[in-house]
Amino acid sequence: MPESYDLTVIGAGPGGYVAAIRAAQLGMNVCIVEKERPGGICLNWGCIPTKALLESAHLLEKIHSSREFGIVSENARPDLPSIVKRSRSVADGMASGVEFLLNKNKIVRKKGTAFFKDPHTIRLPDVSKEEIVSKYFIVATGARARALPGLPFDDHTVLSSRSAMVQEKIPESLLIVGAGAIGVEFADFYAAMGTKVTLVEMLDQILPVEDVEISGFLEKSFVKRGIRVLTGVGVHDPKLENGKVKVLLKGENLPETGEVLEAEKILVSIGLVPNTDSLHLEEIGIFLQKGFVKTDTKYKTSVPHIYAIGDCNGPPLLAHVASMEGIKAAEAISIHSGNPHGLSYAPLNYDAIPGCTYCHPEVASIGFTEKKASDKGYTIGVGRFPFTASGRARAMGDVGGFTKVVVDKKSGEILGAHLIGPGVTELLPAVALGITQELTAKDIASTIFAHPTLSETVMESFAAALGEAINL
Ligand SMILES: Cc1cc2nc3c(=O)[nH]c(=O)nc-3n(C[C@H](O)[C@H](O)[C@H](O)COP(=O)(O)OP(=O)(O)OC[C@H]3O[C@@H](n4cnc5c(N)ncnc54)[C@H](O)[C@@H]3O)c2cc1C
Repeated sequence: MPESYDLTVIGAGPGGYVAAIRAAQLGMNVCIVEKERPGGICLNWGCIPTKALLESAHLLEKIHSSREFGIVSENARPDLPSIVKRSRSVADGMASGVEFLLNKNKIVRKKGTAFFKDPHTIRLPDVSKEEIVSKYFIVATGARARALPGLPFDDHTVLSSRSAMVQEKIPESLLIVGAGAIGVEFADFYAAMGTKVTLVEMLDQILPVEDVEISGFLEKSFVKRGIRVLTGVGVHDPKLENGKVKVLLKGENLPETGEVLEAEKILVSIGLVPNTDSLHLEEIGIFLQKGFVKTDTKYKTSVPHIYAIGDCNGPPLLAHVASMEGIKAAEAISIHSGNPHGLSYAPLNYDAIPGCTYCHPEVASIGFTEKKASDKGYTIGVGRFPFTASGRARAMGDVGGFTKVVVDKKSGEILGAHLIGPGVTELLPAVALGITQELTAKDIASTIFAHPTLSETVMESFAAALGEAINL
């Protein structure tokens, strides 16, 4: 007899493990299947280990400027194997935490690679002949790095984000293709390690989804740190020659014939491919769109008892989105199966998803950019506040950047916030809460923020948008 569950979750990343726990809280008998370690890309090979690497990078930069703070420190230099070791140990600790949480919630864990035998049965052929039958399924299998056509990853010269975070030796030169959050974070990290970094982006700004002013500010600070930034530039004819990578760059501000660039290594961060190809989803009637699972606002696929969440159902490809979708899907299933907990369902607002990039200076944003808000027909008010005017930032010796908010001039509705500078990833939730709770610019501008804090810049930006800034 196959094992049978109320819900089986495939994939134990931040989407899957959160969905499994929420479902267990709602009284379901839950199994979770994972082919690697629980925690998914985020905890093992994404959000967490990269932030640990960037912390080392930031510390090193800080030590280099220690004289400004009256501290004498000499001969500080990176020890990459130790930096990587620390990053792996932080990731391992977080993954163990997920294992603990799954056990605590009495979720049955299976290790193996699942595929659908039929709409109610999965198999894990790599571990046994066993079959798992379930009333509901949540597919949470995530996504993997996309390679450049003609240049497969080899983890030595041609790196994905995964291999880029476990290098043993600091490369002399690194070409990074794609300046989204992943490319930008690695540019920051390797530049701090002393690598000669070239960051190439096909679109006309780095961090293409961010407000143009923010990306422009980041580009200038990267250039100041010695990173070569090329926007509006495409990478052609990539090849490996004498153990190095050679490409032809073509585009803005380059000679018409292009520029040949050689680097010791290349990191390709041009997007992700959903992990949906070996699950036999289409065979059981699930619609895919460019490989991503198509779902409705409750994460239900075209097969009504199978749901899909996180990276595998399409952008935004972010851990906190995957987790929130996991909670929503578990609650939707509970409602679908008779709603014993009297839940009500409100779909997520995809116009208010926070996004953070942990380069230095940090970048954080939510909601509409100035351009998008104008395009949508709002009469906008924009407020900015520079960190040079923040007492806390001055004391920290870290004044590069500013906070910028976009509000609806008529109603005071908060439409967006775009922040760059010290600690801004920790400032964003105040605005997220404001948007979710439908607060106005006036509500935030009239809240007392403790002094001196970096968060005052957010309050001052809202005051500036209302024409009421005091410290500008
Ligand atoms: C370098 C990097 C840095 C990042 N930094 C951030 C960040 O700072 N903040 C942020 O919000 N996001 C970040 N992300 C994105 C974030 O990691 C993902 O959005 C998030 O992990 C998606 O969660 P998920 O649960 O959908 O998928 P995943 O985390 O990818 O988990 C899917 C799991 O499913 C398993 N699986 C796949 N197929 C099968 C199968 N057939 N059977 C069994 N198991 C299977 C996989 O092994 C994996 O563990 C980063 C990503 C990368 C690569």
